[in-house]
Amino acid sequence: MQVMLVGLLFFGGIYLAFGALTWLLTRHLLPALDLGRPLDPRPLAPGQLRRELFQSGMSILLFGTGMIFPWGLLQLGWARLDPAASGWKIALEILALVAWNDVHFWINHRLLHTKLLRRFHLPHHRSIVTTPFSTYSFHPVEALMLGNVILLPMVVHDFSFWSLASVPLFSLFFNCVGHANYDFFPEVSYAHWFAASRRHHLHHACFNGNYGFQFTFMAGAGPDAASHRRTLRRPHRRRGRHAARISLESLSMIPTITAFERSPDGGAAYTVGQSSLSRV
Ligand SMILES: [Zn+2]
Ligand SMILES: [Zn+2]
Repeated sequence: MQVMLVGLLFFGGIYLAFGALTWLLTRHLLPALDLGRPLDPRPLAPGQLRRELFQSGMSILLFGTGMIFPWGLLQLGWARLDPAASGWKIALEILALVAWNDVHFWINHRLLHTKLLRRFHLPHHRSIVTTPFSTYSFHPVEALMLGNVILLPMVVHDFSFWSLASVPLFSLFFNCVGHANYDFFPEVSYAHWFAASRRHHLHHACFNGNYGFQFTFMAGAGPDAASHRRTLRRPHRRRGRHAARISLESLSMIPTITAFERSPDGGAAYTVGQSSLSRV
């Protein structure tokens, strides 16, 4: 019971603190310092913030009470903590968990974009223009899928408590970056690690493509673009109904390999090859 209460306070606290800090940075401080630029200038949907806060509240309830699972693994002796881990060991463990977090997210995110599970992912995608409070705005099924990230690593390795505690922190940090609707490093390419906010913004704006989290080694802009280029070539080699279906698939993937750019007049455009998909 105490574990669940601590979990609730922890997840609720970091959600509000990280969200408020990202809001302050991207809506006030960074624009004032002329560092970076906002991405999507469109206004939020009516009631969006209230919905995000409500859905996130449900996720926090699940994440908080879900602390009973890692705790249970420790009680049952299926997992153990390393109380004497050195600083180096903790640093390496955190690096491994950062990598695992991206792999775990990518697998679950791809599953959530299948026909079967898509309906559980749509509540998150109702935020087309994202905010720092979109971070935990999930359907409970999605919250359960993403929330179990540390269970498997715990069973296969004795982590330090601090390494495990770092997971929700760095995960939420990257999540805030991804949903900030702010381009922190406008000079870098789409495939760059520092362009994660641009990639996840495109994912929300276009729904298809850019399924990765912070990094591109799983399916970020680089590998995604390559696989989509392959998909785009396929229709030419196939005939009939099948070809038409692939063609449609390819069409829906086109926004992945394009960019979101600001036009000189201050507007914004999604570009598909040479042509403009939508101008706002
Ligand atoms: Zn998605
Ligand atoms: Zn998102």
